Amino acid sequence: MPRPIQASISLSALSHNLDVVRRRLEQAAQATGGAVPSIWAVIKANAYGHGIETAVAGFSAAQGLAMLDLAEAVRCREAGWGGPILLLEGFFQPADLELVDRYHLSTTVHTREQLDMLAHARPSRRVDIMLKLNTGMNRLGFMPDAYGGAHVRALQLREQGVVGAIGKMTHFACADGPQGVAKPLRVFDAVTGGLGEGPVSVCNSAATLRYPEVAVDRVRQPHWVRPGICLYGASPFADVSAAEFGLRPAMSLRSQIIGVQDLAAGAEVGYGATFRADRPMRVGVVACGYADGYPRHAGTGTPVVVGGVRTRLVGRVSMDMLAVDLDPVPAAGVGTPVSLWGQDGPSVDEVAQAAGTIGYELLCAPTPRVPVKRDP
Ligand SMILES: *Cc1c(COP(=O)(O)O)cnc(C)c1O
Repeated sequence: MPRPIQASISLSALSHNLDVVRRRLEQAAQATGGAVPSIWAVIKANAYGHGIETAVAGFSAAQGLAMLDLAEAVRCREAGWGGPILLLEGFFQPADLELVDRYHLSTTVHTREQLDMLAHARPSRRVDIMLKLNTGMNRLGFMPDAYGGAHVRALQLREQGVVGAIGKMTHFACADGPQGVAKPLRVFDAVTGGLGEGPVSVCNSAATLRYPEVAVDRVRQPHWVRPGICLYGASPFADVSAAEFGLRPAMSLRSQIIGVQDLAAGAEVGYGATFRADRPMRVGVVACGYADGYPRHAGTGTPVVVGGVRTRLVGRVSMDMLAVDLDPVPAAGVGTPVSLWGQDGPSVDEVAQAAGTIGYELLCAPTPRVPVKRDP
């Protein structure tokens, strides 16, 4: 028998969350008279830990898929995905363009070097590109004063038959926070406004959920949003839960109690003895540790659900185990199911907050030794 830990991925939650996003965009479109944008479901990083093939199935109603890794893009094609695929970091070397061509991928272009590589390529069909503008995040993209020149080069490549559609794209640094998107959006509109036709894409999850009007009434071009985290049922916001948007957790990490200790007052728990019982209490030991992807920085008090009852983690998380307070669950014993996060547990965002991180990191964290089961 394997250890009792398991990650379950709910296909219906994935497609439900995609629906939530689509309905939000439809409402915004109705309110402003704009067009409903298309959705690139972002499935980078093994679909935020949910598995590429599972994501392809769960997001079958999306118009496109977006990711970073060429190998993952190829897996999408092999899984039967025939729609658009966007490479969010583009290609890295000339040989990548052969795969871009063979698997009919669209690509972000964010450097001069990528334009040079395209200029030397002889693809069998035109490559659709999204020319990326750096609107202040200073991660990827052409600076505003270089964007016009890059666009001219892209137009030349189109004349040469190398490039097809030329889209315009940026990424927001602060869509989830008080700064919002107004400032980068002004830069985006000023720089890209006069540059002719082509798809436009600016919104991640936070912008799609908080400013859907940005996606529906932009510059009268076909618009694509790029939601990631919300499609997996976690929140991009520190102050609004995923449930408040009607999103459902797609990943549930579950295990079991594999040992119980009856503690006397004053007894200590775990490495470093960081937890001390202030009264006699029962502690359950759960088969889940940081080598499974559970955050070691989650301390005493982190929520966990044992036998359907919400309780707390106590002491330090170790490599293969963690301890929980069984006082609220007197019936619990060896074999009692434990939900670390997900459907019947705390939200992944609550656990992340307790560990000083974000849900994104925890969803990507389960390690290869954790068996993954796909639920309908
Ligand atoms: C990761 C990523 C997204 C999706 O971000 P979420 O916050 O998960 O919605 C969108 N666009 C780009 C360029 C990204 O790298």
